[in-house]
Amino acid sequence: MDTTNEINALALERIQSFKGKYPKQLWYLFLSEMWERFAFYGMRGMLTIFMVEQLKLTEKDANLKYGAIQAFIYTMAFVGGLFADKILGFRKSIFWGGLLMIAGSFTLAFSPQHLYYIGISFTIVGTGFFKPNISTMVGNLYKNDDPRRDAGFGLFYSGINIGALLGGYLCINVANHYSWNAAFSLAGIGMAIGLGIFIFTKRTLGPIGFSPLANKVSLSKIRIYDLMVYAGSLLVIPFILLLVSNTAYTDIFMYIVGPAAFIYIIYEMFSFNAIERQKLIAALIFILFSVFFWAFFEQAGGSLSLFARYNLRHEVLGMNMDPNEINNAANSLFVILFSPLFGLLWLWMGKKKLEPNTVIKFGLGFLFLAIAFYVFYYTRFFADAAGFTSLNVFTLAYLVITVGELCLSPIGLSLMTKLAPQKLHGMMMGMWFLASAYGQYAAGILGAGMATVDDKATLTDKLMAYTDGYKHLAIYALVAGVALIILSPLIRKLMHDVL
Ligand code: GLN
Repeated sequence: MDTTNEINALALERIQSFKGKYPKQLWYLFLSEMWERFAFYGMRGMLTIFMVEQLKLTEKDANLKYGAIQAFIYTMAFVGGLFADKILGFRKSIFWGGLLMIAGSFTLAFSPQHLYYIGISFTIVGTGFFKPNISTMVGNLYKNDDPRRDAGFGLFYSGINIGALLGGYLCINVANHYSWNAAFSLAGIGMAIGLGIFIFTKRTLGPIGFSPLANKVSLSKIRIYDLMVYAGSLLVIPFILLLVSNTAYTDIFMYIVGPAAFIYIIYEMFSFNAIERQKLIAALIFILFSVFFWAFFEQAGGSLSLFARYNLRHEVLGMNMDPNEINNAANSLFVILFSPLFGLLWLWMGKKKLEPNTVIKFGLGFLFLAIAFYVFYYTRFFADAAGFTSLNVFTLAYLVITVGELCLSPIGLSLMTKLAPQKLHGMMMGMWFLASAYGQYAAGILGAGMATVDDKATLTDKLMAYTDGYKHLAIYALVAGVALIILSPLIRKLMHDVL
C-alpha cells in the first residue's frame, strides 16, 4: 500500500512541476468542459422558449420553472461535489455525471414534448456530478503556492465560454431551422464528445481524481459504496422530477437547503481560530452578494430570452441575426475576447499600484451590472410602434454585463480557495455554487414578476413591462455595488492577509 502511495505522490509531483505557462492536462480538461458547457448552454438557451411555445406554459410560469431548473442544477453541484470528496473521487463523478447528461439530452431528443421533465431531471443530476468536479481537478494540477494557477483558471473560463458560445448559438439555430428533436440531439452529441475526450485523456492525470477511499478500504467495499451513490442518484431523479414539475415544492426545497448549509458552516466555524473564522465570514459575505449578482445576470436564460424572442429587430451592425442567437452567445463571445485583456489590465494596474482590491472589484462588478440593466431598460426608447426595438442596444448591454461578470465570477472562485481553510475548500466551493442556485431561483421569480400576465398584452405592453423591470434591477445593482464599496474597509479587515 505504501508503495502505491509513493508512486502516486511521484506521479503527482511530476504533473505539478510542469514547465511553461500551463500543464498539458489543463488542455484536456478544458476540452471536456468546453463540450459539457456546449451541451449545457445549448439546452439553457432553449428551455424557456420550448416551455412557452411547445408546452404552452405562460411566460410567468416558464420563467419560474426555468429558475427552478437552474436552481436544482446548481444545488446538485453542491451535492455532487460533496459525494466526490467523500466517496467517488472526481473521475468517477465526472464519468457518471456525463453519462446522465447524455441520457437526459437524448431523452429530450426522443420526445421533447412528452419526456421533457424526465430528460431535464437526468440533466440536472448529471450536471451536478460533472460541473464542480472538473473545476476542482483543474486546481489539483497546481501546487498550493503556484502563481500560475489563476492563469490556468482564466484559460479554463475561456474554454467554458467557447463551449457556451457554440452551444448557445447552434442549438437554438437548429431548433429554429430543423426541429427541437435535432437540437436536443446536438446537445447530447456535444456531451458525448466531452465525455469521450475525458475518458481518452484521463490516464494523463496520474492519481488526480482517484476515489478518496482508494488504499483505505477494500476494493469490494469501494465498489459497494460506488454502487450505492449511483443507485442513490438514480433514485433522486423521480424526486427532482416531482420538485421541478411543481413549483410550490421547489420553494420548500429552497427554503430548507440554503439555511441548513449556512447553519452547518456556522457550526464548522467553531473549530477554527478567530482569524480563520473572520476569513470565513468574509467568504460568506461574498457568497451572499453573489446570490444577487446571479439573480440579475441569469435573466439571460429567462426573461431576456423571451424579450429577445418577441421584442427585438433581427438586425445587428447591419447584419441579419436572430436575437436569441445573440442572447445565447454574445456574453460568451465577449468573455472570450475580454478575459485575456482583463488579465493584462489587472497586471498593468498592479505594476502601477493601482489594482483595486477584491472587494472593490466585486463592487465594480455590481456597478457594471447596474449600467448593463440600465441599457436593457433604455432599449424602450429605440422601439417602433409595433413594439420591436434595437438588437444593437441589446447587444451593447451584454457587453457591459460581461465586464461586470469578469470583475466578479473568476475572482470569486479563487477567493473561495484563498479565504477558506484547506479542510473546507470543497465545501466553500460548493457554497459558491449553491449561491448560484439561489441566484437562479431568484432570477426566475424576478423574471416572472416582470412578465405580463395579460394574454391580450401587445408587444409594446410586454416591452414596457420587461424594461420597467430592468430599470428596477439596475437600481438594486447600483445599491449593492455602492454598499460593497462603502463596506469594503470592514470586509478587507475580515480578510486579513488575503488581497
Ligand atoms: N458562466 C460560468 C459557468 O458556466 C459561471 C456560472 C455560475 O457560476 N453561475 O461555469
